[in-house]
Amino acid sequence: MEHNLPGAADQAGFLIDLSNVVRDRSLGGPGARSLHRFRLVVKALTRLTGDPGVQVYPVADRSLLGAAREFTDRAEVAVLRRWIGEGLVEQVGDADQRLLELMELTSAAHTRTVTGDRFTAHRREYPWIQGNTDRFLKPVAGPSGTVRLVPLDMGVCTEGEISRADELAAFKKQGLLKQSDQPLTRVVNRFWRCPEPRCTAYDPRGGRVLLPRMSKGVPTCEMHCVPLTDAGSRPAMAQLKVMVDGKCKGRYTVEDGSRTGIGRQPADGIALYGLLPPAVAARISREHVVVSAEGGILLVRDVSTYGTQMRTAERHGRPGSWRRLSPGQDRRFGPGDEVELTPGVMLTRSARRFPAELAAAWRNAARNRPAPQGASLPTSLG
Ligand SMILES: [Zn+2]
Repeated sequence: MEHNLPGAADQAGFLIDLSNVVRDRSLGGPGARSLHRFRLVVKALTRLTGDPGVQVYPVADRSLLGAAREFTDRAEVAVLRRWIGEGLVEQVGDADQRLLELMELTSAAHTRTVTGDRFTAHRREYPWIQGNTDRFLKPVAGPSGTVRLVPLDMGVCTEGEISRADELAAFKKQGLLKQSDQPLTRVVNRFWRCPEPRCTAYDPRGGRVLLPRMSKGVPTCEMHCVPLTDAGSRPAMAQLKVMVDGKCKGRYTVEDGSRTGIGRQPADGIALYGLLPPAVAARISREHVVVSAEGGILLVRDVSTYGTQMRTAERHGRPGSWRRLSPGQDRRFGPGDEVELTPGVMLTRSARRFPAELAAAWRNAARNRPAPQGASLPTSLG
């Protein structure tokens, strides 16, 4: 086995997303984590390349050994520790980030990565992932306990999908996701305050509010390493963007419980006349649509003279079709949906969601896929 581990990425033909492989129960072997799955992957690479000495470079998250008790075979923990100690396996805080860096560095050599991960959250930073079909291999269970490798079609993710994955990754990094990929809403939906008097990292008046980091089950200040105190519930918010000819001309925050008129010049609300050429502004009603937020859900209602078109967010590269809004009726305005006031003038939602919507989306995602064995049961969300 060790003759397959050169201990240097530039000498390897394949990078291995080790945490992803070791945790993949579909590859067989008992337990939540098994190094046997990695051995099966190396065997598969041997068959794929016809080279028994195929060189691989595994990268692991620090958390892989952090939960060592999840390895059924404790001897594997010792082996992994030794490999890390000898530099045969690279251990880092964020393996995804490191793997993609290494893939860029080794792009001339066309080094491929074995993983089941789609790296959705990283596609803004590494645009070459979009649509790639030849640099990722996914391990799948083969006949009689073997593993084979299939090219992974990365597909093209929409802006909305990337933002949501990005958000999920941010929560995960702070320890704010449960094992079932649900956010800890009791933490996420509240504001927090650091007892250190001069610390404003969690102050909602300070613009960008840090997410608390969970430490031993307690929300903690990252700078001062002290438990944060509860500073009340976080009002759900959404961000609206006004797009004129495809360019963002204004961003507005809508708070939960609010009602905002948007039009050429509404009595109270968002006035667009200053953003538009007069001829275009003339096609927009004084108050054209009303956007309201209730319980974390955003709604849009057409109140215009000439009507409003809407289409729903793209799903896997295909947007919904344009439909006219029924006048005077509220319609769900989701992230990625587009509302057209007149040709060339569009209202969209920033892809960042309300915490409440995030929670619901994750709850649904968890429901639609088989729960991993040993995962905690979904608890009700606060
Ligand atoms: Zn602090």
